[in-house]
Amino acid sequence: MPFYEFRCEDCGRLARLFLSFAEYDTAVPSCPHCQSQNLKRRIGRVALGKSEEARMDAMMDDSALAGIDEDDPRSIGRYMRQMSSEMGEDLGDEFNEVVGRLESGESPESIESSMPDLGAGGDDMM
Ligand SMILES: [Zn+2]
Repeated sequence: MPFYEFRCEDCGRLARLFLSFAEYDTAVPSCPHCQSQNLKRRIGRVALGKSEEARMDAMMDDSALAGIDEDDPRSIGRYMRQMSSEMGEDLGDEFNEVVGRLESGESPESIESSMPDLGAGGDDMM
């Protein structure tokens, strides 16, 4: 649940309130110190757990892709490594080997030809 920070206009103290998004629309928060309802929301202090979906979005973000030079294996390797760490998953030895070889500058074609099983049973990464 996200929390919102407010500053009480009357007593000047900070109030941290846990509200769901639905509650936030209708809630009339009051100061836990002096019960005043004269609270001012402090912008930009909402704590949110990033959902899985939001993380995927961030990953597929244009700016992430824009950093890739398809002719530069190192750049592709960096992107793949970033993608796997975003997912927080170990994608297996094969994936790690490919990323490692990309990062050392080996071309995707050369890696592919030396690993005939690559991509079998899965979508092409790039
Ligand atoms: Zn107060």
